[in-house]
Amino acid sequence: MTETASTFKAKSTIKSADIEHRQKINFNIGKYNAVVPLGKQQFSDNNLVKERAKNIKWRALETLDQHLEEFEMHFTARGGKVIWAQDSQEALDEILNICKEKNCKTVVKSKSMVTEEIHLNSFLQENGIESIETDLGEYIQQLDGEPPYHIVTPAMHKSKEDVARLFADKLGTPSKLTPQELTLVAREKLREKYIQAEIGITGANFIISDIGAIAITENEGNGRLSTAWPKTHIAIVGIEKMIPSMTDLALMWPLLSTYGTGQKVTVYSSIITGPKQPGETDGPEEMYVILLDNNRTNILANPVQRESLYCIRCGACLNVCPVYKNIGGHSYGTTYSGPIGSVISPNLNGLKEYKHLSYASSLCGACTEVCPVKINLHQLLLDNRKESVEQGMTTFSEKMAWKIWKAASLKRSRMNMGGGGLKAKIVNALFKDWNKHHEPLHFSKKTFNEMWKDRERLK
Ligand code: SF4
Repeated sequence: MTETASTFKAKSTIKSADIEHRQKINFNIGKYNAVVPLGKQQFSDNNLVKERAKNIKWRALETLDQHLEEFEMHFTARGGKVIWAQDSQEALDEILNICKEKNCKTVVKSKSMVTEEIHLNSFLQENGIESIETDLGEYIQQLDGEPPYHIVTPAMHKSKEDVARLFADKLGTPSKLTPQELTLVAREKLREKYIQAEIGITGANFIISDIGAIAITENEGNGRLSTAWPKTHIAIVGIEKMIPSMTDLALMWPLLSTYGTGQKVTVYSSIITGPKQPGETDGPEEMYVILLDNNRTNILANPVQRESLYCIRCGACLNVCPVYKNIGGHSYGTTYSGPIGSVISPNLNGLKEYKHLSYASSLCGACTEVCPVKINLHQLLLDNRKESVEQGMTTFSEKMAWKIWKAASLKRSRMNMGGGGLKAKIVNALFKDWNKHHEPLHFSKKTFNEMWKDRERLK
């Protein structure tokens, strides 16, 4: 077993027995479950909406090369700069170059999973640049020294009392502040940082090719402040976030809001087409978009797994997953957790190291059912398993166990050999890992042939 797999197993074992954790998660997911059906009422035909959204992403991904070039052409025409980054290191080096050029000491950041993927905060810190998370959930997590727990709700595993204690500990506030008071504290601290920051860094929910823009949705206004207040704005975005046209937002924005948080549409929705233009009063003087590959083109090249790039990161599959709800977001040890994380992490970070995530599923199909872009998630998990077997990543004992099982199952005379007790002994020895967490397998005393003969005799 790889180190990542054994760490995952150890962390999951502890978390799944943690009753307090489960209560907090159930409470927060319960709130989500109460509002999502209300948000869905805005669609007269949910299935049709999902089909259309899937078609938009299909169209974008099937001709991604053309859309990326079209985006670049339009975006650069208005003075924006596009950087193509093949991997995390290239993206980090480019960001550092810009920071050095601008003599940047402070960066304000809005919520972005891609910046988590490339470990931007720790990289900037190592290079003497302060990077401040401005989304409240991310700010809480940064104060606590933890990565986000959930792709939409970063501090979902914390109660309001936990947050009050954290603020008291890290910021010296009274220990029993209400959520409103805590938010005001964060707001006051963050406003100072916006004034100091030379650069704002964001992700993007969508890249729009026909107008050369990025689209950002958020609820706190921190994204707008991060993009408009500092003189330089850098948006880093995975290439799969493409949609062909601005008119596609009419569907994609409400869809993302409803499946992400139950809202009809998020509070702030911004379309950013480049830096401040002559005569405009707001916006950054310079704007960069970093288009990140980081193994996404490998997924694109795989006709089966390509579908996983349709993901709009709404987080709905995490909220319905019985595994996620029990082991929590941090046990995965990857940027993307839950069903979509278990599908893409082995393909983004290496099948050998992360294939175990594709086995951490009951295959109940709840994730596939809820996905607003109809990604066949549980089938893709199975496909990862198949791929890992075909690449010979199974252990010797597992291979032998299945070989013996196959040899026995293919011949009736072999199936009839030995009594039920002997068979149970052999099979339980072969599948001993299974028996660590399950009752041993039992076999009938009589073989199928013998039972059939008895049945015929009684007719
Ligand atoms: S896979 Fe589907 S349900 Fe899961 S986060 Fe992505 S879009 Fe949402």
